[in-house]
Order: sequence, then C-alpha cells, then structure tokens
Amino acid sequence: MNHLPENFLEHALSIDDTFQFHCNQCGECCKHREDILISPFDLFRLTRYLNMKPTEFVDRYCTTYIGQNSRLPVVIFKAVGEEQVCPMLQDNHCSVHAAKPTICALYPLGRAVRVEPDGKPEVFYFLNGSTCGAEDETHTVREWLSEFDLRDSTAWFLAWQKAISKLSPSLKTMEKLLPPKELSMLYAIVFKALYLDYADVREFLPKFVLNVQSLQKQIDTLIDKLMPGGNANEQFVGSDGRCYRPACTGHCGRAGRISVHRHGWIG
Ligand code: SF4
Ligand code: SF4
Repeated sequence: MNHLPENFLEHALSIDDTFQFHCNQCGECCKHREDILISPFDLFRLTRYLNMKPTEFVDRYCTTYIGQNSRLPVVIFKAVGEEQVCPMLQDNHCSVHAAKPTICALYPLGRAVRVEPDGKPEVFYFLNGSTCGAEDETHTVREWLSEFDLRDSTAWFLAWQKAISKLSPSLKTMEKLLPPKELSMLYAIVFKALYLDYADVREFLPKFVLNVQSLQKQIDTLIDKLMPGGNANEQFVGSDGRCYRPACTGHCGRAGRISVHRHGWIG
C-alpha cells in the first residue's frame, strides 16, 4: 500500500475521473500488515465511531514512534497473531468499515500532493498498483471518497502536509537543543496536541489547525529562549549542511525544510 507504482504521476486521477475496481472482501489486505497508518484525523473518526477515548484506543490497538524523516509522532495499528492481522479485522471483515483509516478507505487508490508552478498545492489520486479484487465496477474518485464520508478529507490532507512541513524542521532543531528527558516531554506535548486534544469539539479540522498554530508558537518561543543572540542561521546548520532554522525563508540558500510533495503520500 505504501509503494508508489512506476510512472504514477502520468496516471494521476482527479476527483471526477473514473477507475475500475471491485473489492471481493477477501480480507487479505488486512493481514501481514504493520504499516496501517492512523493519522490524527483517522484517530478522531475511529474513536468517535467506537465511542472510545483516544488514549484508550492508542494504548489498546496501536504502536507509536517518531518518524525517521518527519520527526513527528507516527501511529500505526499493532498487528496481532501469527498472520500479523490488523486488530480491527473480525471474522474477515473490517469492524470499523465506516470509519476505517484513510489509507484503508482509499485503497486501491493512493493520494499525493504536487506543487503547481504558481506555488499552489494540488491533491491528486492514483491507482496504487494492487492486483487484488476485480475490475468489473466503475467508480469516480469522488464517489469512492463519499462512501466513507471522506469528501472533506482533502482540506485535512493539505492541512496535515502543511503541519508536517512546518513542525518537522522545528522538531529537528529541538532535537539538537534539548537533552533526552526534556525532548521526551516535548514529544508528549506534540503527540497530545496533534492526536489527542479534541475532547469537546464537533469538527476536527478547525481544532487541529489551532493546535498546530499553538504548538508552533510554543516551539518557536522555546527555540528563541534556548538560543539567545549569536548567528542563528549558523547555529541551525545540521550535520547534512542544511539550515534547520524554523523561520528560515530560504535566503541562506541551504534551506532544509521538508517539501509538501515529499510527504504527499501519508494517507
Ligand atoms: S482498519 Fe479495517 S480495512 Fe484497515 S486494515 Fe484494519 S481491518 Fe483492514
Ligand atoms: S481490497 Fe483487495 S485484498 Fe483487500 S479485501 Fe478487497 S479484494 Fe481483498
């Protein structure tokens, strides 16, 4: 599910394009899986659907770690048993079908972002190269998304990419500045803000945007406190020679910020 098919950009699908696919509900795509990503939006949907607290859901069904490239917290399902089955699979059926994670709901589609020449990000879809099921049904991408009530997920997807591109360089900077114990505390704050802090809200996205803004402000303030004076640009140069100053505008000529496009395929 995570592999990009060759020449996928040449086969980009827009929201009203059609594709052929018929899922025969064999359940095979839910086995031998240790890569089912659960985004903050997915966690919000899943826990509302199951009427569970996000912390309870994560403790019971998920594994968390810090993403190697993004340095942001990542949540995946904890596969169970010899067949490494997703914990949501029951009697060969998805027990959270209507609220399943976006990566599952999109299947056999993948989704990515490309930045147009005018600088605007554009979301597009592509067939992920799967060979399961049959091809005797025709769907539009829009109809496929509506079945899982994901019509509005494009706005979320762009907000998530933007959050990654902003927070990732800041967290990389903090890793250079904070000792391990304080860094763990910071990651707990980041995890709470991105994944857990939605207790009394009806809509996910506005709260997510606020949480990210507040987080970014807190981290920037912390960086300013930890790095008084001096040539900040020089101090933010990483071991790869790139600039990781969060406020870097690229004028230093070595900006190391992660591009939206690079992360375009996280669910
Ligand atoms: S959430 Fe549902 S569709 Fe996704 S892997 Fe688990 S059982 Fe399968
Ligand atoms: S998506 Fe493919 S592998 Fe998964 S249940 Fe449907 S046919 Fe089987």
